[in-house]
Amino acid sequence: MTFKKEQYPRMTLVMLCLFSILLISFSSLIRNNNSYTKDELLGKINPASDPNFSEIPSKCCIRSGMYLRIEVLDAFLELYKNAEDENIKLVVISATRPFHHQKSIWDKKWERSQYMGWQDFEKARDILKYSSMPGTSRHHWGTDLDLNALENSYFETKEGNNVYDFLERCGGELGFAQVYTSKSNGRTGYEEEKWHWSYMPVSSVMLEEYNELITTKDIDGFNGSAIVDSIQIIANFVNGITK
Ligand SMILES: [Zn+2]
Repeated sequence: MTFKKEQYPRMTLVMLCLFSILLISFSSLIRNNNSYTKDELLGKINPASDPNFSEIPSKCCIRSGMYLRIEVLDAFLELYKNAEDENIKLVVISATRPFHHQKSIWDKKWERSQYMGWQDFEKARDILKYSSMPGTSRHHWGTDLDLNALENSYFETKEGNNVYDFLERCGGELGFAQVYTSKSNGRTGYEEEKWHWSYMPVSSVMLEEYNELITTKDIDGFNGSAIVDSIQIIANFVNGITK
């Protein structure tokens, strides 16, 4: 098969079209290639043996044996050092919590005697003020951590206010944000948590992939899991953050 000289511009156009189609297919292939597995998004992991995680130095923590994703820990250690330079002590109270850990927290609360006679929906709503259902916690991801105290009242004290002021001023530069802010902006889900900070460069990707891969059918295996749909756990709680 031979081509005449006057056919060359048409040939170039055809080649260009073919190249564009290839490029579009390739980029959509990359987009659909998720970085995280369903197990990682649901917390079905063991950070102690997972090469993507690293143990937080004990000087930063309330106890040993706490883990973060390596890139999150790197950023946190920089934040920790910046705080130290201002004579502020950051203390990690909680970091990565796998599914089974969250399940033990949830199931223990579910069995509380104060809930005797409550409907499952009301019981779940009450626990969900501050605790996540297993399979829906950002603590599963290795990107989020609780700092210094688990009560907002601590952050009203002089010491707590200094910590909070520092985190608000300097957290953002290193990628950290308070995702459970006041709900006055219309945010749904958990109550305000001044202690819960998230490393957004990774957690925002994980949230995106969670929304693509996880459905309420995947959220199971604990007390009260039958109400995940009626409570709209993914829409109201997993996505109930200030972006
Ligand atoms: Zn938290």
